[in-house]
Amino acid sequence: EYKGHKLYDIIIIGGGQAGISVAYFLKRTDFSYLILDDQESPGGAWQHTWDSLKLFSPSTYSSLSGWQMPDTKKEYPTKKEFIDYMAAYEKRYDFPIQRNTLVKKVAKTKDYFKIETNKGTLFSKTLVSATGTAKNPFIPNYADRDLYEGEQIHSVDYKNPEDLKDKKVLVVGSGNSGAQILAEVSQVAKTTWITLRSPVFLPEEIDGRYLFKQANERFFGGKKSPNQNEKVSLSDIVQVESVRDGLQRGVFQHQRPFTSFYKNGVIWEDGTKEEYDAVIWCTGFKANLSHLESLDIIDTNKIATVATRSIKEPQLWLVGYGNWTGFASATIYGVGKTARKTVKEMKEYFKDASGNKK
Ligand code: FAD
Repeated sequence: EYKGHKLYDIIIIGGGQAGISVAYFLKRTDFSYLILDDQESPGGAWQHTWDSLKLFSPSTYSSLSGWQMPDTKKEYPTKKEFIDYMAAYEKRYDFPIQRNTLVKKVAKTKDYFKIETNKGTLFSKTLVSATGTAKNPFIPNYADRDLYEGEQIHSVDYKNPEDLKDKKVLVVGSGNSGAQILAEVSQVAKTTWITLRSPVFLPEEIDGRYLFKQANERFFGGKKSPNQNEKVSLSDIVQVESVRDGLQRGVFQHQRPFTSFYKNGVIWEDGTKEEYDAVIWCTGFKANLSHLESLDIIDTNKIATVATRSIKEPQLWLVGYGNWTGFASATIYGVGKTARKTVKEMKEYFKDASGNKK
């Protein structure tokens, strides 16, 4: 009990795949811990992605630690299949999760964290921040964007193409989101695709399974992959069904960026103006760290870490977010390895801390 409150050993902020992965490795420890998540139900950011989303990781590479994702009939699981699996995973391991709880601000005294939420204040000796990126969508700086009167949607808010029927739409961004959304919108609207450079489509035979396997082997220096000359990256476009269909329809013509916006559309490099009804920004995300601002350790959307542990605030660990907290830690496959290492470090921290007290 701390001043009438419980003092947890560990509080995890965020109940998405990163948060529950850490919880999985805490199951076999004696630490008192709690997950705080602002959502009403399991699934983290997956709950808010567009309706038709297919994972680009095949089910064999979409499993959380300890329990294989049930085999989906199709190679690429739907978002519903993945969310159902996350819900079942939570239930199976019976994690302590307090939902509908938004962490607004974290403060630190010498020994403990004070965590202010919409449901009151909690206290913990250590903290794992696993709040993902979905709440911090990134839109690049294009001149006069504020003058544009058409609709602007970030991929995080895109659900389906219903409202775009027969419109003229710009889709910006060359990743899996851009390609999948473009493929869908181009079925009902006239689309233009803006990418910084030529997008890279993985050949159909390099399916998601091979992609993850190769990235993994290259990173961990394991077995040599069958074709060393193949330079694939986890951000290349996987040919899920909708993308394959789009390729067949020839919708993936791409253009380099325009120079600026004007009231009704965009101005191309040669000065010509073109009207557009809507722009969909598939331009990614940055880490959502606003709840940690008062710790004064954030530098351009990142926190300096050794592995997942903050350097300036050594009672804080960061899990998920991106490669800066571990290889592929913002993927389902990668986050398990990161979570395991994090819990190992936390155990060592508590061991040292109790040793120092004796
Ligand atoms: P999140 O899922 O965002 O979970 C964080 C949780 O914390 C959320 O519930 C959030 O609401 C909550 N939260 C945030 N702030 C607070 C706060 N202050 N207080 C309390 N709670 C808070 N990866 C793959 O491996 N395969 C794929 O096929 C794949 N497809 C993707 C497709 C898209 C469109 C996107 C955007 C990503 C994809 N990813 C994929 C990447 C990654 O696996 C997902 O983004 C995943 O949701 C990241 O999980 P997370 O737990 O780190 O974050």
